[in-house]
Amino acid sequence: MKFCINTKTCEVHRYYCEHIKNSDVIELGDYPSSYQAIESAKKLGYQKAKGCSRCCPQVTLKSS
Ligand SMILES: [Zn+2]
Repeated sequence: MKFCINTKTCEVHRYYCEHIKNSDVIELGDYPSSYQAIESAKKLGYQKAKGCSRCCPQVTLKSS
């Protein structure tokens, strides 16, 4: 499935998520899970990347 990231909030969304604000969103690409999409976003420099609470609820932010 396709994912994208809001470059201001660093929230990772599924492509169809209705909470995406188009102006600040870039496409991350195709990933089998939201976890991998977030890991990829971190490699791109979005260190605070986290899953959207509506479309990626299974991903919780680890506090380390
Ligand atoms: Zn979302």
